[in-house]
Amino acid sequence: MTTVVKGVKLRLYPNQAQIDQLWQLFGNDRFVWNQMLAMANKRYENNPKSHFIGEYDMNYLLKPLKQEYPFLKSSDSTSLFVVNRNLALAFKNLFQHQGGHPRFKSRHSAKQAYTGQSICVVEAKRRLRLTKLGSIRTSKTNQLTDAKIKRYTVSHDATGHYYLSLQVETEVHDLPKTHQRVGLDMGITNLAIDSNGVKYGTFKAKWFEKQATCWQSKFSRRKRQATVAMRQWNHHHKLSKLELNDYQNWQRAKMTKARYQAKIANQRKDYLHKLTTDLVRNYDVIVIEDLKTKNLMHNHHLAKSIANASWYQFRTMLEYKCEWYGKQLVVVSAKNTSRICSACGHNDGAKTLDIRKWTCSECRTHHDRDINAAVNILNCGLKAIG
Ligand SMILES: [Zn+2]
Repeated sequence: MTTVVKGVKLRLYPNQAQIDQLWQLFGNDRFVWNQMLAMANKRYENNPKSHFIGEYDMNYLLKPLKQEYPFLKSSDSTSLFVVNRNLALAFKNLFQHQGGHPRFKSRHSAKQAYTGQSICVVEAKRRLRLTKLGSIRTSKTNQLTDAKIKRYTVSHDATGHYYLSLQVETEVHDLPKTHQRVGLDMGITNLAIDSNGVKYGTFKAKWFEKQATCWQSKFSRRKRQATVAMRQWNHHHKLSKLELNDYQNWQRAKMTKARYQAKIANQRKDYLHKLTTDLVRNYDVIVIEDLKTKNLMHNHHLAKSIANASWYQFRTMLEYKCEWYGKQLVVVSAKNTSRICSACGHNDGAKTLDIRKWTCSECRTHHDRDINAAVNILNCGLKAIG
């Protein structure tokens, strides 16, 4: 039994009063970030050698800030501490040359969020109590039973929906041992083929993908139209200027596009979760290749980048699930996996991608290219762990 930290994302269904309140809270966090950042910039401007004000000094400044701007009192105070911590971290990264200069936050950015560390109480199957917001309707909370919530983030993204992301501490148990081992060869036509010859297809959501592409082009066209209309209006009306965000038709396309894209991403994630859970349940040792060494030069850019995203997610899931459930993941660098005969070890030379089946010139074994590669990967991994 081990204690692990899991991420849980719930949908929030705030009522109108809570929506107004949420935007105030997003704004408060942004306000504190921008105030503290402006102050840090000013100090540097006045004296480049001045001592940087750290996280705790900034927390100390919150009190006078709250007196000056009473609306800040409506926030969960822990969320303002989190803002200061993030800003201090951003500066630390800057000083260590690991990041750019922190930027001011805008109320127009697609994602708005705040993070707090207060206690969230599960009230019912679809209801939670959050600090300052009170009781709020959510999607199913059954993942949260017996879990300890470490921190929470409320967000609003381009889909126009509200979400609650939680980091929860929970206990997991080892899965029963099966004494089975498997090697996986990652591909593009199939996500993976294993050393037993089982194919795991790539995820496809054709209808949603078509909708997403369609709304993407509507989005670009409407944005272009809105830009032209805005320039014309602002040219003739010097006093009441419009902004791009005032064009509802474009805004709607933006949201619809984002919703389809989110839908595809969620379904892909569910699919990968199912695959990786099955693998971890069925095998004690899983061997995969280090994808950096994989030669994909002959493939189309787009197919490659999509496959890449899925592989990365797939590997990340396998990594933590193996750790949670007491299984072993071995990563080997894939060299010559499609050239070597898995039966006799003879290197049969390079093969172009269109050759799917071949016969070993040494031992005459007939091979399926991908299954042979998966077997080589498995053997390579077993050799590595002895
Ligand atoms: Zn052979």
